[in-house]
Amino acid sequence: MEKWSVGVFASIDAGLGVSLEVARELGVKTVQLHTPHKNSRTPEKAKEFLAKLADYGIAITAVFCGFEGESYESIKITAETVGLVPPSTRAARLAEAKEIADFAKLLGVDAIGSHIGFVPHDTHSADYKDVVLVVRELCEHLKKNGQRLHLETGQESVEGLLDFIQIVAADNLFINFDPANLILYGIGDPLGALKKVGKYVRSVHCKDATATKGTPGIDWGAEVPFGKGEVNAEAFLQTLKDIGYEGPLTIEREIPQEPSRQKTEIGQAVNLIRSIQEKLEST
Ligand code: MG
Repeated sequence: MEKWSVGVFASIDAGLGVSLEVARELGVKTVQLHTPHKNSRTPEKAKEFLAKLADYGIAITAVFCGFEGESYESIKITAETVGLVPPSTRAARLAEAKEIADFAKLLGVDAIGSHIGFVPHDTHSADYKDVVLVVRELCEHLKKNGQRLHLETGQESVEGLLDFIQIVAADNLFINFDPANLILYGIGDPLGALKKVGKYVRSVHCKDATATKGTPGIDWGAEVPFGKGEVNAEAFLQTLKDIGYEGPLTIEREIPQEPSRQKTEIGQAVNLIRSIQEKLEST
C-alpha cells in the first residue's frame, strides 16, 4: 500500500460509515470497515464483499468491532454501553470480538479496531484486572490469526492508555489514533497526545471536532467536517510525519443519515489531505 493512502470509514449494513458505493465515488483506495451484522459474517458474504471491493479497487485496512446495544447518546451512556468494558456484556462481547476477527481474517484483514470502552481508573481494582485479562485474551486470539488490535483513542488519558497497553503486555496491541475523540470526550490537546503515544499508532481517523461549551468529560463536543474543527489538519499531518507514521489516513464522518452531505464533506476532506500532503512532501 502506498504511504498515507487516503481512505474512509465505511459500512456495509451496520455502523456510521459511508457505503462502499460512496467510497468508490470518492475515488479512495482504502476503507476501514465497520463490522457487518452477525448474520452477514459468513464465508459466502466475505467472498461477496471481496469481489465487490476488488471491482471497486478498494482494500480494507482494518475491521472495526461494533456490538448490539452500544449507544453514543451521551458520554455517560457511552461509558455504560460501549466496548468490552461494561461488565454485563463483557464475556459475550469478548466471544463476539473473536468471531469478528475470524471474519476479518476471511477478508484478509490483519487489523481489528475497537473502542474498548471506559477502562476503570483504579489499576488495582478487580474490574481493571479483568479488563486487562479480556484484552490480553483477545490479543492472543488475534495473534493466532496474524492480526493486531488497534485501540480507538478518546476515552482515556494518554497516561491511562499507555499504562493499559504496558499492563496488557501483548506485542500485537496498538492504537488507532482519533484526534477528534480527545476533543469530544474532553481529554485535551490531541497533537500533544499523538506525540506521546506515537510509537503505538498503526492507524488513524481523520476526524475533527469542537470542544463542548458545557462541562468537558460530561457534555459532548461537536463532531464537524475534517479541517473545520479544533484539530488543525495541517498540524495533525505534520505530527504524523514527525512520528514516522506512514499508514492509511482514514476519514471518519458520522452523519450516515445524510449521504449527499457525507459525500460532499468527505470529498472536501480528501482534497484537503491531498493538498497538505503535497505541501509537506515539498518541504
Ligand atoms: Mg474514530
